[in-house]
Amino acid sequence: MGLNASPTCELQLDDCRVPADRLLGEEGDGWTQTKQTLDGGRISIAALSVGLAQGAFEAAKSYAIEREQFDRPISKIDAVRDKLVEMDRKIERSRLLTQKAATMYDDGQDVTRIASLAKLDASETAREVGEAAVQVLGGYGYLSEYAPQRFYRDAKLMEIGEGTSEIQRLVLGRELGL
Ligand SMILES: Cc1cc2nc3c(=O)[nH]c(=O)nc-3n(C[C@H](O)[C@H](O)[C@H](O)COP(=O)(O)OP(=O)(O)OC[C@H]3O[C@@H](n4cnc5c(N)ncnc54)[C@H](O)[C@@H]3O)c2cc1C
Repeated sequence: MGLNASPTCELQLDDCRVPADRLLGEEGDGWTQTKQTLDGGRISIAALSVGLAQGAFEAAKSYAIEREQFDRPISKIDAVRDKLVEMDRKIERSRLLTQKAATMYDDGQDVTRIASLAKLDASETAREVGEAAVQVLGGYGYLSEYAPQRFYRDAKLMEIGEGTSEIQRLVLGRELGL
């Protein structure tokens, strides 16, 4: 569907023996390592999502300023302007959450909750902003010659990889003690 610059394929390891001196970390500690990797990975997906959303927003904004209908740029039409304002609001919110998560990660703090929150928020923002960008371009938004449809397709994986949005909500509920 998207992310065509990142090929995804099946990898199968049959009867694969790994020498003991190639062990990563401590034996029996795999789950803890995986959790730490996921915490960091979720911040990376949040950052990717903010970038995708920003790209989609910029493409939509410059198009809206250029495209004229009824003798004025469509950016001057309330419905289009409001869409762009909403996109900007969501991106800024997601960026702040992502920066907070990254700063806490760099400080060595426990980031399970904030990483999940940033990932959930930014991935949904990327998909919503991507969709809105397609809409702002109208018919051109649907064509492969224009960038928004690619941002929209790429953004969808952000709600799936490193734990789906459903799993983020599960983690967040658990973090709230629910
Ligand atoms: C292009 C691409 C690249 C990827 N890259 C990576 C990578 O680099 N590293 C990596 O580790 N993985 C990668 N993945 C895999 C990705 O992380 C998984 O697809 C994702 O975590 C979902 O797992 P699943 O596909 O097994 O779905 P499933 O677990 O089968 O889930 C299917 C549906 O059921 C829901 N569901 C499942 N369990 C629950 C539950 N307990 N509560 C509520 N809802 C639930 C899910 O939210 C989802 O909607 C990649 C996938 C794709 C498509």
